[in-house]
Amino acid sequence: MMDYVQVLVIMLPNIALSVWLVSLLAHVHSVDVALPPKCTKSFSRGSAHKWTNWAGNWFADPEQIFCPRSLNDLITIVNHAATQKKKIRTTGASHSWSSACVVNNDGFLVATGGLNKIFDPFKIKTGGGGSDGPWAVEVQSGVVLKDLDTFLQRHDPPLTMPSNVGTIFATYGGILSMGCHGASLSTRTISDLVIEMKLVDAKGTLRTFSKEKDPAEFAAAVVNLGLLGIIYSYTIRVDPMFKLLMVDSYPLASEYFGDPSIGGPKLRDIVLGNYMTSVIYRPFSGDRLDYSDDRLWLKRWNRTDRALSHSLVPQCLQTSLQDGLGSFSTCLGQHMAAHPSSTRPVLHVVHTIMGTSSESVLRAPNAIHFTGGSETLVHLDMGFSFKTDRDFANVVQASKYAIDLMYEYAHQGVFPLNIALNLRFVKSSAMIMSHVYDEDPEAIYCMIELLSFKGTPGFDEFSTTVAQYWMKNFGAR
Ligand SMILES: Cc1cc2nc3c(=O)[nH]c(=O)nc-3n(C[C@H](O)[C@H](O)[C@H](O)COP(=O)(O)OP(=O)(O)OC[C@H]3O[C@@H](n4cnc5c(N)ncnc54)[C@H](O)[C@@H]3O)c2cc1C
Repeated sequence: MMDYVQVLVIMLPNIALSVWLVSLLAHVHSVDVALPPKCTKSFSRGSAHKWTNWAGNWFADPEQIFCPRSLNDLITIVNHAATQKKKIRTTGASHSWSSACVVNNDGFLVATGGLNKIFDPFKIKTGGGGSDGPWAVEVQSGVVLKDLDTFLQRHDPPLTMPSNVGTIFATYGGILSMGCHGASLSTRTISDLVIEMKLVDAKGTLRTFSKEKDPAEFAAAVVNLGLLGIIYSYTIRVDPMFKLLMVDSYPLASEYFGDPSIGGPKLRDIVLGNYMTSVIYRPFSGDRLDYSDDRLWLKRWNRTDRALSHSLVPQCLQTSLQDGLGSFSTCLGQHMAAHPSSTRPVLHVVHTIMGTSSESVLRAPNAIHFTGGSETLVHLDMGFSFKTDRDFANVVQASKYAIDLMYEYAHQGVFPLNIALNLRFVKSSAMIMSHVYDEDPEAIYCMIELLSFKGTPGFDEFSTTVAQYWMKNFGAR
């Protein structure tokens, strides 16, 4: 009898240990079982790879793609990646042209499309504890720009983002973590509108970064290139709805890009004199093999109280027409890629048809996202930013270098630039990792881009040469 008791006493701790181990294993197992459901959506866009970006210039084969729908899902994915020793990369709408979302079989890709909740807008409390400050709204990171536009327009009172990027299909996670920008001098980058960010860090902990509570930490965290954790949500400052008068004109490019001491100050006056400005150089819009006849598409936006312009074409039809125009342009782009010598005549005709000056009054989101058809117009874009000098002479020099080089190529039968050289301007960002970060809040940065249809022969070599010149001469980044 005594022996049995002794055996039991010896075995009891072992039994307890076994029970604990079994329950621990069951717990680990249940964590696996609780992983977010596999994505039903495909990210391959017709390619042989598991994921490709919108433009189709980057591919990846992550071990697993997760589609979280809640904060708990995010925490579970991070914990799972930690136990499996896997990297994590995140993708929103995959509209970036860089390799930022790429992860292969050593990691997981987290697609945030299911994190699409928009919370009720509220007024920011002022110092005295009142609630009469500016409006703000919290959005989960997978919210797509067009959905927030619609939501804010329907709010009572109607609200709007004061500035934004051109496309309506990107997500807030994508544009804010990368420090994206619009064309407005008064709102800086879009990331500068953020007042709070919630992120799941590598330990699976939810962290909140607040502009008010810790401005230094906040400035280091918001523009993070997707490398600080998975962003759950942002709180963004928004404005009461306003209208914009959008004026389009088509001056000769030589009026601005001739002598930098004349063209620079002219450009500066336009940029300083308008709420938003976009200067779009249209390659081969003239009918000579030099730039003297080429035109700019000069877009200016200003806040207005004038009545909205009435269009005889309903909005849904306008969207379809723009999409159709985008597809048609992509088809023209493919034709020019296959037959480069057709580039000049094709672009000359297109720009002659589309070069009529006009003005219209639109609600802010419609005016800001004027390039409706760009989603179906599949193109590549190389963008840089540099600080403008006092008279904008470096803006003229940077533009003119690219245009002159483009014509050098053209003389050899190569037409590497066939959509635009685009200039937009914003004041510096307070976000430390931003490409336009500057300690001087009044510094003006020029965002300069080269855009060509995907597959355009010579674009990679041409844009690389131009990028090197911009980096070396103007400190572009
Ligand atoms: C037609 C078109 C027009 C454009 N116009 C402009 C413009 O006017 N101005 C401008 O600045 N840019 C513009 N862009 C670029 C575009 O805004 C950026 O590339 C933006 O990052 C795309 O957002 P996305 O949701 O597609 O991000 P993705 O390409 O999916 O992701 C980009 C990066 O964001 C990170 N990320 C996304 N979500 C999260 C998250 N939840 N947590 C952590 N990291 C995250 C990813 O890790 C990745 O590094 C344009 C792009 C296109 C295709």
